[in-house]
Amino acid sequence: MSENENRDRPIIDMRNVSVDFPVKGPIPFMPKKKVRAVTDVSLTIDYGETFGIVGESGCGKSTLANAMIGMVKPTAGDVLFKDVDLFKLKRKEFKRIRRDMQMIFQDPYSSLNPRFNVYQLISEPMFIRGGVSDEDMKARVVELLELVGLSDDDLYRHPSDFSGGQRQRIGIARAISLNPDFLVCDEPVSALDVSVHAQILNLLVEIQSKLKLTYVFISHNLAVVKNVCDNMIVMYLGKVMESGSAESIFRNPKHPYTHALLSAVLDVDIENRKERVVLKGDIPSPIDPPKGCRFWKRCPFAMTGCKDKPAELLDIEPNHAVACHLVNDVFTDAEKDAGLNQPIEDHAEGLLGTHGKK
Ligand code: SF4
Repeated sequence: MSENENRDRPIIDMRNVSVDFPVKGPIPFMPKKKVRAVTDVSLTIDYGETFGIVGESGCGKSTLANAMIGMVKPTAGDVLFKDVDLFKLKRKEFKRIRRDMQMIFQDPYSSLNPRFNVYQLISEPMFIRGGVSDEDMKARVVELLELVGLSDDDLYRHPSDFSGGQRQRIGIARAISLNPDFLVCDEPVSALDVSVHAQILNLLVEIQSKLKLTYVFISHNLAVVKNVCDNMIVMYLGKVMESGSAESIFRNPKHPYTHALLSAVLDVDIENRKERVVLKGDIPSPIDPPKGCRFWKRCPFAMTGCKDKPAELLDIEPNHAVACHLVNDVFTDAEKDAGLNQPIEDHAEGLLGTHGKK
């Protein structure tokens, strides 16, 4: 256990984190615009937990995960890893603590250098860190290969000799080579054939229990999140719409956006299949996000007050919070008298498409 490790405290503690990226405008000296990639996200992740981040492309999932491991500096807020503020560390200290956090990438075809053989790919992080003899390094690489279901016969082969699933196994072996305790799995199976999804997910679960790892799982695929995650957040346009235990969100989703995402999950139990909700319209630009609830332009239940009043994440039960005025009933009597809780006229028309049971 390292000096910073207190397993009673969260391994990750993000407090009011926002990440904006400046964008160059067409005219010099004009005020710069910014992409609001992540806005005011707070969360904690405990040791040994699997934490899911879900949402459509461009919702800020990967930016949030990169801020978690210190690769993107937040514009506001704090990121604590093992109670240490990552962005207050000196470069050398950051490099040392960064070894405890690793990433498994989506695409094992592009994340592995095709000119390296398996031994070079897996030993590279140890080689860079230094202090390991050639003999120990080879023994460690063989040990890692066995852990991920490959063998020492594969040591001197190149990535092109392997299938997608086997390449992802090599990527996993490389990610755990420095004995990290926190892994970000960024869509780890989405680039693979469906037939190997279960194998790779089972491998990740097996490794997690053997090595006592903490995972963050980024995924479009809610079925994956349902099966592997303890807690999760649903993000839309840089903000958290719903958060809590995966069990309570899947059993009792409250946010209209979560409902729409969940209705798209194919349930093998035909009797229990939900009516599919198809959200129409494009996601608004993160350069100029809606100022009230970020989801109101696509929300079939949007009320007049949702246009201007930002929706705060509020607890509806232990470990389950929702950012929706309809669910949280936040309008005051005066606001209700002013009609802010009334549906926006003609808004739902054309936004909510139900395609019957899948
Ligand atoms: Fe829809 Fe309003 Fe709830 Fe946002 S706050 S999800 S617009 S009902």
